[in-house]
Amino acid sequence: MRQQQILAILKETFGYTQFRFEQLNIINSILDGHDTLAIMPTGGGKSLCYQIPALFLPGVTLVISPLISLMHDQVMNLAEYGVQAVFLNSSLSYKESQNAKSRILKGEVKIVYVSPEGILSPALCEFFNQIKISLIAIDEAHCVSQWGHEFRKDYTRLGELKLMFPEVTVVALTATADAKTRNDISMQLRLSQPNLFVSSFDRPNINYMILERTDEIKQLDDFIKANHKNDTGIVYCLSRDKVDRVALALKKLKYNAIAYHAGLTKEERSVNQGLFNTEEKVIVVATIAFGMGIDRPDVRFVAHLDLPKSIESYYQETGRAGRDGKASNAWMIYGLQDVVKLSQMLETTDADESYKKVARFKLDCMLALCEAGSCRRQYLLQYFGEESSNTCGNCDTCMVPPQLWDATIDAQKILSTIFRTNQTFGAGHIIEVLRGSKNAKVTDRNHHALSVYGIGKDQPKEHWNSLLRQLLNLNYIAIKNWEYRSLGLTNKSQEILTGGVKLSLRKQTFALDKIDKKEKKIGKSQSIESAHGRTDLFDSLKELRNKIAKEKGMPSYIVFNDKTLHDMCSIMPRNDSEFLLVHGVGQSKLENYGKEFLEVVRQF
Ligand code: ADP
Ligand code: ZN
Repeated sequence: MRQQQILAILKETFGYTQFRFEQLNIINSILDGHDTLAIMPTGGGKSLCYQIPALFLPGVTLVISPLISLMHDQVMNLAEYGVQAVFLNSSLSYKESQNAKSRILKGEVKIVYVSPEGILSPALCEFFNQIKISLIAIDEAHCVSQWGHEFRKDYTRLGELKLMFPEVTVVALTATADAKTRNDISMQLRLSQPNLFVSSFDRPNINYMILERTDEIKQLDDFIKANHKNDTGIVYCLSRDKVDRVALALKKLKYNAIAYHAGLTKEERSVNQGLFNTEEKVIVVATIAFGMGIDRPDVRFVAHLDLPKSIESYYQETGRAGRDGKASNAWMIYGLQDVVKLSQMLETTDADESYKKVARFKLDCMLALCEAGSCRRQYLLQYFGEESSNTCGNCDTCMVPPQLWDATIDAQKILSTIFRTNQTFGAGHIIEVLRGSKNAKVTDRNHHALSVYGIGKDQPKEHWNSLLRQLLNLNYIAIKNWEYRSLGLTNKSQEILTGGVKLSLRKQTFALDKIDKKEKKIGKSQSIESAHGRTDLFDSLKELRNKIAKEKGMPSYIVFNDKTLHDMCSIMPRNDSEFLLVHGVGQSKLENYGKEFLEVVRQF
């Protein structure tokens, strides 16, 4: 019975036919009254996991969400589906907020979005005590954890919610999955024996490519020209200066490029975000300030001109490409200077040492991904705790196998040095011994007398650092003690030491021209039109959609996204009930737009 009702909400309100990933299990867990931790990749559909219970349950669902702009979009989006939602935050005037509250009190509202500091303010607490709250959903829950990559101070107090509303079920949602963050979220939020749901992190429609940086603007221009002439994309840079510089360079190259970073005024940012949401072929050059709240499903590429500081960031940023499931590219260029810059930034913050240790480790993992000689996707999934034995066929290493070198002997040198120094030292010391350093730290410990002393002096420090990262990444060595970051052998080490396994690694400065040629062919999104052969109809539908969006002053995909329009082209609905078969069409959208769109279809 309940299952049918849930499905009916999915169908009638949201216009979808099937649940994705663990959505149904998550919803059931919530409805059974269990605290729930849901981990789902970006774009996976986390919102429905609490929106459907909100509609099913009596009373109100509170959604804690970190960004005010995001709340506004979500509420607007829900209104389109005929769902009554409001937000309460500092951007509202007194009158607006009174208005929202009176609607809540009258029982007209099912979902209330609140900021983390808002919900804990005495005034709102008191207000919420007057109404029936059935569910609390905490979005972007990784912000509560120092292990996550976007720690926010105002999230740390959210644990108090469980004390204030002990009877209310809590669902925490995030796209960050590693086990440490997971446990931390659940502890910080005081979830009581939460049900955990982890959905696959694989985004098969995204093609990953990572290159060494030579001439960034030219590399970027070549990449866009070859693959994304008519597409929308995001270009991430590390600093504001660089954002401005790159946006300008792209404009000179006749791209429709706009800049976005925290140095712009609030108005400029909101205008630029608006342009990104509404324009057709647009490229946003941005710092990571441009992030949460991007719901546009047809971003065809995400380019990184600098190394992100962790795999979590890389994964989340690249995850903004291809939410509609169509072929998309995640393209990155990097240089070792990035590592220096990021390290400096980290060392000069006033974060405590334990945080810095974690951050250094995460940066190393990110770099190891760049240097990996095997499938990028496999590495990414493994990082998030998903083992997969198959290579993907849709990343640069799979498509153009990199030049490899036989690293077995050098790996043996490292492993022996770790062993001879009793597995009690970190990377820095191991490399000093290998390279025969006369540093007192080495000689005082008598390490210059070891047989391994100086056996690696033929190679520079960077070579050994890179190799160490690879060995860590491949589990041939492990961090034994977090405090000292000392390295130790693992049960796999023996395979290398005995020569039983040959270790092949990526040659670092590889031939870019070779990749460039192949690059032209890959990851190119299948042309939309050919999908159903009805270009004209698609264009007309798109025109109508854009017109409506403009009139209503909202992003076009909130009316209907491209996928829905394609579906209309394939189904060619003739009446209301056929229109309801279209992906993304529910009762409310049928009522609002059915007539106009059916009319366009009829003309064809
Ligand atoms: P995120 O997990 O990043 O918060 P959203 O909740 O914003 O993702 O969902 C991403 C997109 O997927 C939205 O356009 C949403 O409407 C769509 N979506 C969610 N669930 C489904 C489903 N079961 N079937 C089809 N589309 C879905
Ligand atoms: Zn691959």
